[in-house]
Amino acid sequence: MTNPTIILYPSPGMGHLVAMVELGKFILHHHPSLSITVLISPPSFNTGSTMDYVRHISATVPSISFHHLPTISLDLLSFPSMEAVIFELLRLSNPHVRSALASLSRATPISAFVIDFFCTSSLPIAAEFHIPTYFFVTSGAYVLAFFLYFPIIHNSTTESFKDMNQLLHTPGVPPIPSSDMIRPMLDRTSSEYQNFLDFSIEIPNSAGLIVNTFESLEAKPLQAIREGKCNPGGNTPPVFCVGPLLNTENQREEYNEVECMKWLDKQPSKSVVYICFGSLGLLSAAQLRELAVGLERSGKRFLWVVRSPPTEDKSRRFLKPPEPDLEELLPAGFVERTGERGMVVKSWAPQVAVLGHAAVGGFVTHCGWNSILEAVCGGVPMAAWPIYAEQHFNRVVLVEGMKVAVRVVEDEEEGFVSAEEVERRVVELMEGAEEVRMEVAKKSVEAREAMANGGSSVAALGKMVDLWSSALCS
Ligand code: UDP
Repeated sequence: MTNPTIILYPSPGMGHLVAMVELGKFILHHHPSLSITVLISPPSFNTGSTMDYVRHISATVPSISFHHLPTISLDLLSFPSMEAVIFELLRLSNPHVRSALASLSRATPISAFVIDFFCTSSLPIAAEFHIPTYFFVTSGAYVLAFFLYFPIIHNSTTESFKDMNQLLHTPGVPPIPSSDMIRPMLDRTSSEYQNFLDFSIEIPNSAGLIVNTFESLEAKPLQAIREGKCNPGGNTPPVFCVGPLLNTENQREEYNEVECMKWLDKQPSKSVVYICFGSLGLLSAAQLRELAVGLERSGKRFLWVVRSPPTEDKSRRFLKPPEPDLEELLPAGFVERTGERGMVVKSWAPQVAVLGHAAVGGFVTHCGWNSILEAVCGGVPMAAWPIYAEQHFNRVVLVEGMKVAVRVVEDEEEGFVSAEEVERRVVELMEGAEEVRMEVAKKSVEAREAMANGGSSVAALGKMVDLWSSALCS
């Protein structure tokens, strides 16, 4: 008989796809008798990097197969946000998901269908085939606690988060200002708000919740979730913390010859602040200049990934920005004046390798979940400067819940961060923040322990696989 298959269904964003594939690798490493198939819904934007990545994984991890769903064409101009595009793209892909599950289940027994929250609309399809569906949470347990509790918050008010001006209380989560709520959820009348609400309502109907985290990083929200406090009176599916799932394999070796890594090799231990705003974070031209001024005044060594500002051209807003023109974007003479102690790289740096380098002592981050996990694993304290998605929520969690970051404070109206604030936070991060430094060092050790044999994440994976096997036998 063929091996039972696990179907993974990620959303098209690179961070979501990479985390899901890492989950597949983790499953296969510990349970090689299972087989993994990843459903790929081709993104309507930025296809290059996704398909390159899929080709790379197909070549290097042949035991993971990819099933490509047909391309869906969408009028990108008609969507208010990237999240709205992704929800719609995946909804329109549902007939193809049905065909895929039908043909795959004819070939081999399917033990589990593991989906991203963007794929919530595919949940009833798996139910038609009696396949248990698990949500894979690509952010942390604090965010999961919020989503479980969200229907209660939704029913307690008629106002949008953007107009509330109050603290939101979720069991296990520090109070979150309503203005820090997940960006595309700020307006209650938006389609994204409704889509996230649909996800929240469906969570209790799933067979389990797989979270890219480890137990000791988010003990409080995990306890609140498991005690049923986030969904009082309702069902709380079992939670499996199987992280941190990161693509750390051979990162140092692979990027040894990259210029910024060679530059880091020459810097003293823990002396460099690394600044990067994820794969999509773009700062305005004025904000880039202001950041440069503050960074220069801080006097600290730095490695800064600079991207072009957002485009004014609506038709290009979901596409990869062009290479930045540093001469035009940064203050006159900045690169020459700081050349002795700083390095600016255009558009992209090998972040996992950078955060694992001994010379890096601080990270100014946009608070994307993968970046947070990478910093925690590298034992690098953070300065939290959110831009989009759930990053403002994550900042509160990093500073007040996990205590692994200092807060970068922006102007309340415009969200602009002044040069003085940049200077102050960079100096604090690199010279002070003793408690944050100690806490992140401790979590780094615990992250390694969680992923080692006998660790909590390996044990959680074992329990999950047992559940899959028992479902097949029953
Ligand atoms: N990343 C990178 N180099 C860059 C920017 C980003 O390697 O210059 C990687 C980073 O290591 C992380 C991912 O891209 O794995 C970004 O994911 P995250 O969840 O932090 O943020 P997102 O880009 O999804 O907002």
